[in-house]
Amino acid sequence: MQGVALITGGASGIGAATAEAFISKGVRRLVLIDINQDSLDTFSQSLKAKDNGDKLDILAVQCDVTDEDAVKGVIDQAVQKFGRIDYAVNSAGITNKSKVGQYKTADWNRVINVNQNGVFYCMREELAQMEKQDFLPCQSKDTRRAQRGAIVNVCSINSFVAAKLNAAYVSSKHAIVGLTKTCAIDYASHGIRCNGIAPGYIETPITLSPQNIEVLRKSTQPERTPQGRPGIPEEIADVIVFLCSEGASFVNGAIWEVDGGFLTL
Ligand code: NAP
Repeated sequence: MQGVALITGGASGIGAATAEAFISKGVRRLVLIDINQDSLDTFSQSLKAKDNGDKLDILAVQCDVTDEDAVKGVIDQAVQKFGRIDYAVNSAGITNKSKVGQYKTADWNRVINVNQNGVFYCMREELAQMEKQDFLPCQSKDTRRAQRGAIVNVCSINSFVAAKLNAAYVSSKHAIVGLTKTCAIDYASHGIRCNGIAPGYIETPITLSPQNIEVLRKSTQPERTPQGRPGIPEEIADVIVFLCSEGASFVNGAIWEVDGGFLTL
């Protein structure tokens, strides 16, 4: 796979696994964006350490996706370095639990700002670049499969169903389904595809944290998740990379459930 991949929340969990999955498919130019400078440094050093002289080129930039000017700055920096953005994966996300009637406004707003507005700020800059770049040379014989760019937003099973004490998260994840689908129809004629992925319960620092681990254990019993286990970040990352690839050239506006069967029950 050729091209430049950009990943928000790229230093941890699903975002980090996605970076590794792109590399395993041959992508050599990566832009990693995360709010956490330490994890960004540690992760990009670990990727470079595993690189066997494959000319891996990583731009790792600390950025809070709720800061629209900072988002514009980092995407400008990425384009200055690599000239284009072919795949954009918007994975940065947070949660904050409360009963609806007891949410502090600041806590509510922070979740909405990161999970909904942050995705919008990133998409706006990603699309502005994708729209003006040439099509990436097509690997397939059929040039109808060529693309200018592909975006994958990391949604959730909570884009479709509620979760107790999680109204801000559930609201934000429902909202980005609308954003993803509308983007898909607005940009189809530009050669840009936009899809979402809806992970079930995945073992990442969010779900393994002391306040969430019991929910992870209970929610991954066979009566909730038919496969009877949590997913691993790589199982989400592989599907994200496929959705970005030319192999998914006729998938647009879809939200793919990757949840061990959770939403089928
Ligand atoms: P994670 O390991 O915590 O990764 C999220 C990354 O985003 C972290 O490095 C985090 O930094 C960073 N981040 C948080 N706020 C940010 C901001 N304002 N700007 C830039 N980066 C920010 O969690 P994950 O489980 O991989 O989650 C990734 C995405 O998957 C999220 O959108 C989440 O909602 C979604 N998802 C996860 C699951 C699951 O079971 N894990 C299920 C469905 C959907 P800090 O560590 O400093 O916060």
